[in-house]
Amino acid sequence: MHSPFTYALNMFRFFLITGPFICLLLGSSESTHRVESPTITQVILISVDGLRPELLQAPLIDKHPSMARLLRGPHTLEARTDPDSTVTLPNHIGMVTGRLFAGPSGHDWLGNTDPPKPGEGGTISEMHGEYVASIFDVASDHEVATAVVVGKSKFILLDQSYDETNGALDTVDADNGRDKIDAFIISKEIDQITAETLKFIRDTAVKGGRSLSFVHFAEPDIAGHAGAWDFADESDYRKAIVRVDNAIGALLSSIDADPLLRGQVAIVLTSDHGGGVPPRSHTDAKAPINFTIPFLVWMGVDQQPSDLYSINPKQRTRPNATENPLANAPQPIRNSDAGNVSLMLLGLPAIPNSTVNGAQDLLLVPKASTPVQ
Ligand SMILES: [Zn+2]
Repeated sequence: MHSPFTYALNMFRFFLITGPFICLLLGSSESTHRVESPTITQVILISVDGLRPELLQAPLIDKHPSMARLLRGPHTLEARTDPDSTVTLPNHIGMVTGRLFAGPSGHDWLGNTDPPKPGEGGTISEMHGEYVASIFDVASDHEVATAVVVGKSKFILLDQSYDETNGALDTVDADNGRDKIDAFIISKEIDQITAETLKFIRDTAVKGGRSLSFVHFAEPDIAGHAGAWDFADESDYRKAIVRVDNAIGALLSSIDADPLLRGQVAIVLTSDHGGGVPPRSHTDAKAPINFTIPFLVWMGVDQQPSDLYSINPKQRTRPNATENPLANAPQPIRNSDAGNVSLMLLGLPAIPNSTVNGAQDLLLVPKASTPVQ
């Protein structure tokens, strides 16, 4: 149930995102050119497994033009993982549930291997002891199509947790059932991941629908483990990042070329962890090179790059480079902000009982910005 207040709040937030574009449209009313509405209808949440922020900075960024393009929007290279975990599965659960691992509202999933079967501890809700809602619940319940396209078998946990048996009843508007994930695909092939994602959002757009896709590239992490996060041009880690960048480039080119998608697809890109402590892993949650990660929001068009911490001076606190603040300290921007940001981009409410960005207060444009008329 959503109160009129909630609705008004969401419309206000929507205006915070789209206001500058709307005003741009109004301001150009005398022009003979009509500008297409920039309303976001498709959101892709991308996690590049083991992506260190240095890859998005000079000079390394020069070889990653597609991720460089995604920097043309609000972003930070000083985001944080979960304070207690710098391994894969707990951080991705954080992204899709808007919860940290620990605490009374924590998601409680610390394991990082293929999960047991449902009924044997193999759903997120079983582990927590009560239902843990996700971005897939909110999207599916609001008639938004959902996809999970991932590169590691352990993500079967998401399918198990939100399937036709273990997903919650849909009590919002039309009944879309308990199965919250419409398409669930595991693939180690980078090109297949982007192809499946593009097909899903295009099929949705053709039907006039909206979609939310969670996309995961595993290869950089696998190469990072093998080569101790070596950034050299010829390193396997760097080659894996370039391959992911090429795949994102192909995705962006296809979106650009498609009138049904151009300007309507937002991309949120982050990572589950960095890597290098110990040298061939990322298990030390106190190591800055493990817990410091990028967080990018590309809002369907190339914008002036902006710093998310500067946009959110009251809502988030830029942490000291050596710190990953605990839940009771002023909060940094985290990978687990991504879920509720993704929903906000679609004009959807926050994940029920989420604690990270549960108020959807992480702004993407400055509150006091006055659009140029
Ligand atoms: Zn990982």
